[in-house]
Amino acid sequence: MRYPFLDLATINARYADDLHRAAARVIDSGRYIGGSETEEFNRMLAGLCRAPHAIGVSNGLDALRLIIEGYKVTGRLSPGDEIIIPANTYIASVLAVTHAGLNPVLVDPDETSMNLSATGVLEAITEKTRAIMPVHLYGQVAWSEELADLARNHGLIVIEDAAQAIGATSPTDGLFGSRKAGALGHAGAFSFYPTKNIGALGDAGAVVTHDTELFKAVAALANYGGDRRYHNIYAGFNCRMDPIQAAMLCAKLPDADASSARRFERAVAYNNVISHPGVIKPAISPTVTDQIWHQYVIRVPAARDRFIEYLTSEGVGTDIHYATSPHMQPCYRTLPHRPLPVTERLASEIVSLPISDCTSVADAADIGRIINKFPIHR
Ligand SMILES: *Cc1c(COP(=O)(O)O)cnc(C)c1O
Repeated sequence: MRYPFLDLATINARYADDLHRAAARVIDSGRYIGGSETEEFNRMLAGLCRAPHAIGVSNGLDALRLIIEGYKVTGRLSPGDEIIIPANTYIASVLAVTHAGLNPVLVDPDETSMNLSATGVLEAITEKTRAIMPVHLYGQVAWSEELADLARNHGLIVIEDAAQAIGATSPTDGLFGSRKAGALGHAGAFSFYPTKNIGALGDAGAVVTHDTELFKAVAALANYGGDRRYHNIYAGFNCRMDPIQAAMLCAKLPDADASSARRFERAVAYNNVISHPGVIKPAISPTVTDQIWHQYVIRVPAARDRFIEYLTSEGVGTDIHYATSPHMQPCYRTLPHRPLPVTERLASEIVSLPISDCTSVADAADIGRIINKFPIHR
């Protein structure tokens, strides 16, 4: 591929010296679970999110699961409760809810932002609704005054799936003052899966929260349910972040904002160059920081699959996030859900273009010109 979609070795080459130094430090420390590396990571992430509490955990799915389990052991969520989720998300958002024995209520997103909207939530609220899970899909903050008011007025817990949105900033206030993704609601989950904007060198995730009681519950649950050594207040899990991953992430996190700014430049280049009647471009928000461009996703309603074949033949790597919505997956065959026409249509139209450090601004412009030559009527 002349224009690869993503190449993790290239991504991490930029940080190589710091990563090698950090790895050597952990190897020589003799401390391979817990300790100062994870504490430093927790401090760094809490600072970045302007939240009082952050804790590194094993991965993004576990971060979501620990939040829900934390609300269960503190008596604020129970099996059978409903959590409203956008249907066009990665399956992990839904898995976290069903693993905990709660009911995901999938709703269609707003078609333009592709994110959860207050209208969508309002239509789905029942007397069993206890929480909503905005997913900041593609790095675009899913938050508004309306959503905040809805949560307050209906007494709903807001659990953010911020896996794709590290460092994104909402133009409007969160429930507790912070405007950072992951700290807008009561609790937020991050993923540091290697392909995320800030990726570990393996699996890693984190929970961020304003709620001290939840924070203590999550910290205990992630460590076998122990509040101190050999004393287990909950039947917990082993979902800790490894110090080696914490050290990798401490080397990369300071670059979060600069890395988002580089992605933004590519998004602008695409939006400036792409001009094709068959292609719908994403909107570039006037508040640049509310979208960190985890993915740059266009829609090709008439000929998506042929479009991808064309780009492949021109040496342009693409991906689809996500071709099969969670409710269409075999494991959720029997999951009850309302009709989801917007989600299903989006899944058939979307294409993700290269947007990482592997793609220069000039590459993005080249790709845009290749797109403009796509023969829509063959
Ligand atoms: C990546 C991702 C997750 C899961 O994170 P892992 O670290 O891979 O478990 C959850 N939700 C969304 C929206 C994601 O993109």
